[in-house]
Amino acid sequence: MAQAVTDEMVASLEGLSGSLVRPADSDYEQARQVFNALIDKKPALIARCQGVGDIVDAVNFARENRFEVAVRGGGHNVAGKSTTEGGVMIDLSRMKGVHVDPAARTARAQGGVTWGELNRETQLHGLAVTGGIVSTTGIAGLTLGGGIGYAMGKYGLSADNLLSAEIVTADGRILTASEEENDDLFWALRGGGGNFGVVASFEYRLHPLGPLVTAGLVAHPFPAAGDVLRFYRDFTATAPDDLTVFGGMFHTPDGSGQKIAGTIVCHIGSPEQAAKDIEPLLAFGTPVMTEVGPMPYTVANTMLDEGSQAGAFNYWKSSFLDEVSDDAIDTIVDRFASCPSPLSILILEHMHGEATRVPETATAFAHRSPGYNLLAASVWLDPGATEQNVAWTRETYAAMQRFLAKGRYVNYLSDDDTGDDPVRSAYGANYDRLVQVKTKYDPTNLFHLNINIKPAA
Ligand code: FAD
Repeated sequence: MAQAVTDEMVASLEGLSGSLVRPADSDYEQARQVFNALIDKKPALIARCQGVGDIVDAVNFARENRFEVAVRGGGHNVAGKSTTEGGVMIDLSRMKGVHVDPAARTARAQGGVTWGELNRETQLHGLAVTGGIVSTTGIAGLTLGGGIGYAMGKYGLSADNLLSAEIVTADGRILTASEEENDDLFWALRGGGGNFGVVASFEYRLHPLGPLVTAGLVAHPFPAAGDVLRFYRDFTATAPDDLTVFGGMFHTPDGSGQKIAGTIVCHIGSPEQAAKDIEPLLAFGTPVMTEVGPMPYTVANTMLDEGSQAGAFNYWKSSFLDEVSDDAIDTIVDRFASCPSPLSILILEHMHGEATRVPETATAFAHRSPGYNLLAASVWLDPGATEQNVAWTRETYAAMQRFLAKGRYVNYLSDDDTGDDPVRSAYGANYDRLVQVKTKYDPTNLFHLNINIKPAA
């Protein structure tokens, strides 16, 4: 049975600037929610931190009282790793500070900031860092796992642009991780996930971007899906760094369940260059909808928000692909034909440009081969439909097995991706070095609610 939090215990947290939420509190039900409604865990205590001091107190409290620790940034992790059954959730979602230094082209952002919030501040100066494609995703989990986004072709992953991190480790110390200080930890934070401590703030290198980008969606009738995906594969093979395109299958947003195939486009170069680069994509086939044009980067960052609402049930399976053969395309099209939920998607994410030029061992993010990541993201609203949707996702993943590469993206793994295999697939060639860093900074595995790297015995 889970240990109860007594009043005596919480007395040690009376200095907290933020607040404590316990099961009897009126805001507990709201505070314990994470993005994925499939995750229904009940922490014994939620420490809503306001600053680094609060994080230190919360880490010490959990360690000393032997509670399991979950760390919550934006709460988007589909595996539900940011909450705990009966443990302490260290909740950074109130830590919203962002400071941009436009002259130095850097930004420091606290661990509860979302991509929409960070982009709002950096775009005031015409600057940005590669970030998630949905504005409500947290910068914290996404950056620590790598960070795939529209600007990755030109500027690399989010993690590639991390300059330093302020982190509270398992023993309650506050460390800076950067090239100059604790460089082993800095290396591990860029792709090693939440294994090493609680990151209070992230310092990013910024780049000129926008304010206008050329972005949008092109949709084709579902019977054309095979041709669309073959075109997508061939077109993206030579895409310039400025252009990131995801291709796949979706449903019309009217809830009718009608299936479509299409592309999600974002070009971060000048509108003139974008028009030239995107022209073949717009000219292809007979789309039923083409909504691509210049728009503020902050708007491009919200164009998928409506289809990514918190409170829906999510079950995802994902892996990098060895190659997108015609056979692989036929298989995913065939699988999507039986997709049961009108909110689900099956997409290919194009990994290219700067994100693939960084050497495999330069950061903890090991997946640097140009190519594609497959994401089967099942999303549904009816709790009664869970079994059917989970089964469809698993069957789809099984049908794709023969096309999958060994590597998997740590930020897309599911709750049931447990055991050695997914962990090694997530960290690839960097696994052994990550074990060394884990052993040094978190020898008792206090931070194990993540795609867990076990410290050496
Ligand atoms: P949380 O659930 O809060 O945290 C996830 C994990 O990260 C935690 O369990 C913990 O281990 C760790 N963590 C969080 N905060 C901290 C911290 N401050 N210090 C230490 N560890 C911490 N990924 C992409 O790369 N690109 C995308 O475009 C993208 N789009 C997405 C869109 C949606 C709708 C969703 C649901 C996910 C998307 N993802 C994307 C995946 C995303 O990267 C992961 O879900 C990631 O975990 C989200 O980070 P978070 O802070 O919101 O999550």
